[in-house]
Amino acid sequence: NARIVLASRPTGPVSPHNFRLESVELSPLAEGQVRVRNDYLSLDPYMRGRMNESKSYAASQPLDEVMIGGTVGEVIESRNDHFPVGCQVVGMGGWQQYFTVDAKERGVLQKVDTTHIPLSAYLGPVGMPGVTAWYGLHRIIEPKAGQTIVVSAASGAVGSVVGQLAKAAGCRAVGIAGGPDKCSYVTGELGFDACIDYREHPDARSLSQALKAACPQGIDGHFENVGGVILDAVLSRANAFSRVALCGMIAGYDGQPIPLAAPQLLLVNRMRVEGFIVSEHMEVWPQALKELGGLVATGRLKYRETIAQGLSAAPEAFIGLLKGQNFGKQLVKLHP
Ligand code: NDP
Repeated sequence: NARIVLASRPTGPVSPHNFRLESVELSPLAEGQVRVRNDYLSLDPYMRGRMNESKSYAASQPLDEVMIGGTVGEVIESRNDHFPVGCQVVGMGGWQQYFTVDAKERGVLQKVDTTHIPLSAYLGPVGMPGVTAWYGLHRIIEPKAGQTIVVSAASGAVGSVVGQLAKAAGCRAVGIAGGPDKCSYVTGELGFDACIDYREHPDARSLSQALKAACPQGIDGHFENVGGVILDAVLSRANAFSRVALCGMIAGYDGQPIPLAAPQLLLVNRMRVEGFIVSEHMEVWPQALKELGGLVATGRLKYRETIAQGLSAAPEAFIGLLKGQNFGKQLVKLHP
């Protein structure tokens, strides 16, 4: 079983040396255990926080242990009647080719149905990123038809779902993304009303002008994935009683300072800003996954994946994700 462990903690940007590829023997299964062949590994920004010693929004990951990560795959050996050989499952299988787990523990594995939904989508729009989008939009922003909703990292796993759900709720959806290709995908393929390339607007003043043009009625709801200059610019165009779902601040994950330029705008605009962590709201997952699954199965929710080939490609793909080199959901295919 090939696996990748955390070899050292990064100071600043992540380097390939922070990871170590190892090979370990697979032991015979104990009663209740199953062995899953991990077909796809999900790479997610929260993993950056877990690599640090100190607590981020995710708990710290111990050194020399397999990097944690969501996976989908197939049960290939089983001593558990609930998970027979051949069933497809989603779980936290980690950065490794095979995952051995005591499936008696509630919730460690979930069966998935791939009749109408591709297996990999359970790591994206019909998985954690999708539920994140659903929760922040429906439970924090609570959009009403006709309102304008802005989302940063708009072409990504979470952002792409946010804008499409906002459109379905009758809103004007405006994305912010890095580069012309991502922006034309966001408006063309995903159906957002507008998308701003923040790289063309390096400072908050310029970005604020672009937002003014894209949001003629101001901003009623904002789904923040990035922070820094983007958040400053959005606050400058926020309407009275607007809401911000604070989902991520990836611009600061390597430890860069991301100060808020004008916090007084929160008062002036009587805004509600709420941070959230999707895994703390398990009560919404069944409803959200049902809705998202229905939308994906019928082709009404579009998504895109970037797939790195082979476990050994995971570190570089992860480093790329933190620099915006992914386009849509970043996955690793673990077997040829
Ligand atoms: P994405 O697929 O959106 O990939 C990350 C994207 O962030 C990159 O593609 C890039 O897009 C953008 N990005 C990276 N660095 C910067 C930067 N310095 N400035 C601006 N944009 C940057 O990832 P996810 O959809 O998985 O996650 C999106 C956000 O949601 C993250 O902040 C993540 O931490 C957060 N999250 C929070 C959860 C919660 O429970 N609170 C759960 C899941 C995710 P571009 O090229 O467009 O800049």
